[in-house]
Amino acid sequence: MPADLHIHTSFSDGLLSPEDVVNKAHEAGLTIIAITDHDTVDGLPRAMAEGSRIGIKVIPGIEFTTDLPGTEVHILGYYIDYKADWLLELLKRIRNDRINRIYKIVEKLKKLGINVDVNEILKLACLPAGRVDIGSVGRPHIARVLLQKGIVNSIQEAFNKYLDYNAPAYVPHFKLTPSEAVRTVRRAGGIPVYAHPAVSKKDDIIPELIKEGLAGIEVYYSKHSDSQVKHYLSLAKKYGLLFTGGSDFHGFGTMRDVTLGDIRMSDNDVEKLEGYKENEARKTNVR
Ligand code: AMP
Ligand code: ZN
Ligand code: FE
Ligand code: FE
Repeated sequence: MPADLHIHTSFSDGLLSPEDVVNKAHEAGLTIIAITDHDTVDGLPRAMAEGSRIGIKVIPGIEFTTDLPGTEVHILGYYIDYKADWLLELLKRIRNDRINRIYKIVEKLKKLGINVDVNEILKLACLPAGRVDIGSVGRPHIARVLLQKGIVNSIQEAFNKYLDYNAPAYVPHFKLTPSEAVRTVRRAGGIPVYAHPAVSKKDDIIPELIKEGLAGIEVYYSKHSDSQVKHYLSLAKKYGLLFTGGSDFHGFGTMRDVTLGDIRMSDNDVEKLEGYKENEARKTNVR
């Protein structure tokens, strides 16, 4: 039965609530999904509860944004202990700095003659149904406000003109390094996977990350070309790593032209991931 192991919800920059994601996944014929919000696990309990209710398996996941000079590397974590206090503290620290950074970006936009209200941006990252908790707020939320106000004609234009790494309103936020993210996923009992490596174009960090505990590569990804898939499949084999796949679905009408289940992993491949997890857990118990 097919699985999609890279999905965002409205708890980060996805558009759909966890419940809606799970139901849409079911409609798309998926039987296993992983929720992998940026720097937050807060949507997981709701997604997992809905999954149990309608009979679709939800793997608890996360996607860490991490920093290297000049590029971003994203690290996925599967089967993490999403209730661990220390993890929740760390994620809160990262998300608080994401909020601080929104104020700084809004300041920069102001100097460029563009006035946007911070609260409007934060509101987009608030959880639905009138809750006041702030989700994991990021540049896509700013891009949405710029688009709504007619300041840009597309999300892509907002990034190109203002928000991209080299654009005038860019501001970084506190991030882990890739190695720290791999160690964090391990400490939380999860399986660390290098997300969409062809997007980061940093193959040379893989050996170092393996030393830290990297267990897999996201080989199948909506933006990976056939030759990139082939390349990363061979790298996974070379290093003895697991491989995963996912759509990176963010919602209909986001700039990513992908839909749930665009990438489908087989049961067999998900079982390998589960087998790995069980094996690691056994090793820990023996120690
Ligand atoms: P943030 O985590 O706030 O820095 O935002 C990063 C997110 O913005 C990524 O996960 C993408 O979804 C989106 N993003 C980054 N760069 C671009 C780009 N050039 N065009 C469109 N979306 C982008
Ligand atoms: Zn995103
Ligand atoms: Fe990513
Ligand atoms: Fe993602």
